[in-house]
Amino acid sequence: MTTTTAASSIRALEQLLGRERVLSGGDVRYLRDATEGRGLSGHADAVVVPESVDEVARTLAWCYEHDVPLVPRGGGTGFAGGAVPIGGGIVLALERLRRVRAFDPLLWRMHVEAGVTTVEVRRLARENGLLFPPDPGAAEQSQIGGNIATNAGGPHAFKYGVTGAWVTGLEAVVPPGEVISVGGPIRKDVAGYDLRSLLIGSEGTLGIVTAAWLRLLPAPEAFLPVAAVYPDADAGCAAIERVLGSGLLPAALEYLDARTIAASGAAFPAPLPADAGFLVVSEADGSAEAAEALRAELVEALGEGASAVVVPEGSREIAALWRWRDGVSIAVTAQQGGKVSEDIVVPVERLHEAVEETLAIGRRHALDACSWGHAGDGNLHSTFMLAHEDSDALARSAAAAEELFALAVRLEGSISGEHGVGWVKRGQLRHQWSPRALALHAGIKRAWDPKGLLNPGKKV
Ligand SMILES: Cc1cc2nc3c(=O)[nH]c(=O)nc-3n(C[C@H](O)[C@H](O)[C@H](O)COP(=O)(O)OP(=O)(O)OC[C@H]3O[C@@H](n4cnc5c(N)ncnc54)[C@H](O)[C@@H]3O)c2cc1C
Repeated sequence: MTTTTAASSIRALEQLLGRERVLSGGDVRYLRDATEGRGLSGHADAVVVPESVDEVARTLAWCYEHDVPLVPRGGGTGFAGGAVPIGGGIVLALERLRRVRAFDPLLWRMHVEAGVTTVEVRRLARENGLLFPPDPGAAEQSQIGGNIATNAGGPHAFKYGVTGAWVTGLEAVVPPGEVISVGGPIRKDVAGYDLRSLLIGSEGTLGIVTAAWLRLLPAPEAFLPVAAVYPDADAGCAAIERVLGSGLLPAALEYLDARTIAASGAAFPAPLPADAGFLVVSEADGSAEAAEALRAELVEALGEGASAVVVPEGSREIAALWRWRDGVSIAVTAQQGGKVSEDIVVPVERLHEAVEETLAIGRRHALDACSWGHAGDGNLHSTFMLAHEDSDALARSAAAAEELFALAVRLEGSISGEHGVGWVKRGQLRHQWSPRALALHAGIKRAWDPKGLLNPGKKV
């Protein structure tokens, strides 16, 4: 409960920042994220859309002075409900902070504001012969600030790591409304405790990221994917372990189980065998020569036990394969109109067990279940499909998700590999960490945000 009313908040913020920076709290575009399909929605007193770092700082200072919660928001594509203002307060949307402050292609780096979208960063890099490797789906909408706040992954995180690996410096607004900078256009920095890493993945609970220095790579000359179809998860998981055991390092190593293939296979850019029970998508990259050699080795390693191997040729076929892969999540949602999708991660040799257990959990709760994800990282998108107005199925899927988190912990994994804890996994960390580790975690939150006003109820 805030100490101000919505109307007085709007008036005060308009006076502070100007009318064009403040929108009504009833604007539903700012009250949901990609958890909408599981029925999650929030409410807000007002939405602030700042155009400068100073305006971000003044907004947080005002919230701190008046004890009003503040929820930072990027593109609203998160799968953990992190940007949903569950407890009300102010939504602070970063979409107008979209300047590229510096781009030094010859030095492989870029300095961008938080609201620049993932696709813009990747495009600018590519047009200059460079690569920004993190590639979470929904790249047209997701913002660099949101990717940093969730430490987002994506298919190519297998070889290149998650977003944090590519951030060398951060500018952030922290309570009670001050701007800090940690790191910068430097490639190494071991001075002080690693505040940069604390902010990365903090899901808007420690500070508001306003800009980042990003590290880039010279772009590989060629990207050559291979897809292999198996009769079942047994054969498919064996193939994944064979790739790893052979010492091959593909850029991506993805999988889909049988139910996910059934939901999304119609749009697969090549004919699939009728008995497709498991699909692995991998990609070789590097110089044209190295990528071709690696692709040949992948075809051999993945070919054993496969009922079909698909080798897309040419940039159109390759782009079509990844476009299809980007659409898998949406195709699964389309099955019933909604889904509860978690992103547990397990040691890669337990992937097979986790795939089978996801289905078993679904059966126990009478839910249509499936999984797909980043096989090389042991990261599953374990999913229960439902119609989001079906409150009974929603309750069963919440119980099923609890079992999934317990499964992750039992398999020596983690409750989240890339989407974060947000609102939907609140409290789950207690199953994974000791009381002392949890106390340290809570202490960090208190040190940064003593009033607990930054994205309350999330992450901690
Ligand atoms: C179709 C689809 C596919 C996806 N695929 C992947 C994938 O492969 N890998 C993956 O990791 N994720 C994936 N996601 C999830 C999502 O795209 C990522 O988590 C993304 O990084 C979220 O960015 P966003 O800008 O949309 O953040 P939002 O959803 O707006 O916010 C996410 C969290 O970050 C906080 N936040 C946002 N901006 C800031 C800021 N500037 N400062 C401080 N905190 C901030 C919010 O408070 C919230 O807690 C997918 C989502 C969809 C819909």
